Amino acid sequence: MNDLLKQLTEAVGVSGDENDIRLLIRDLIVDHVDEWSVDTMGNLLATKRGTGQYDLRVFVDAHMDEVGLIITDIDSNGMLKFTTVGGFDDRTLLGKVVQVGPNRVTGVIGARAVHLLKSGEMSKVVRGDAMRIDIGAKSKESAGNQVSIGDRAAFVTEYEELEGGRVAIGKAFDNRAGCAALIELLRGDRYPFDLVAAFTVQEEVGLRGAKVAAAGTRPDVALVLECTPAYDQPKENDVSPNVALGKGVSVYVMDARTIQDPRLVAHLMASADAHDIPYQVRQPGGGGTNTGAIQRAGIGIPAATLAVPGRYAHMPSMMISLDDYENMIRMADVALRNLTPDILRRE
Ligand SMILES: [Zn+2]
Repeated sequence: MNDLLKQLTEAVGVSGDENDIRLLIRDLIVDHVDEWSVDTMGNLLATKRGTGQYDLRVFVDAHMDEVGLIITDIDSNGMLKFTTVGGFDDRTLLGKVVQVGPNRVTGVIGARAVHLLKSGEMSKVVRGDAMRIDIGAKSKESAGNQVSIGDRAAFVTEYEELEGGRVAIGKAFDNRAGCAALIELLRGDRYPFDLVAAFTVQEEVGLRGAKVAAAGTRPDVALVLECTPAYDQPKENDVSPNVALGKGVSVYVMDARTIQDPRLVAHLMASADAHDIPYQVRQPGGGGTNTGAIQRAGIGIPAATLAVPGRYAHMPSMMISLDDYENMIRMADVALRNLTPDILRRE
């Protein structure tokens, strides 16, 4: 059992309320870094000083927030009205168990039982604004004593391993897989340069934490560790996957927000080739990562992204391959160890 992934995915940190996950990560890294701080946004920034070989500051980002819900109102019968924090498909919410607010009040996202549905209703989509979180409260007053408007709600999903321990199910692999990988890098030997590890906030609502973290630390180069949707289930019209689970680390080239620095992309691929680490180029297209904010922070920072393919992103349960996850750690590590200022020199 990968205890690090279990701890990180079962911890709570819906965008804008990352206190719990930040404290957990801080405790996990404190013995492996030379200094750490928390900036105004709530980003956890930790420096692992290098051997002094290169005068280079390398920023490695993993966003620690997760998608979830936020309470907007309490109905007269004690049910909680909510809206989403981050991108969701409302259909994935019905019937799911959540924990609400700092007291971790358990609730279920209510749905009318199948027995009570009229014919025709089964084929209709229930929208999120018609759903409620039911914490079993007898009244509005009772609910109000337990939760407040503005509280976040996070899914309750136990981390489990399948397929002989090579596949994992859990919530928030986007992006606790990236956080876990970054923690593993911090636990390793020093790099030839200073490494700034940034566990950033509010990625899921628009790359907000990374923008401030990158501008504030002004690194020379950046690497983003992520979990990208694996779109590899059978489809009617298009049989080409975006990236596939278990086929290697996903390397970004272009998404909706960023054209990755081509020098870094080439360096990442060459590093993986030299060490027989499997990777796959994510199909250029939509989506976006913190790279979009970091690359254009300040006077600009060369940046690239690696990701673990994850099925069912932004749903209460995700699935990743632990081979892909471990390969992302190896690929990031060898690429960082072989990173030199020359790679960024232009003709
Ligand atoms: Zn993400």
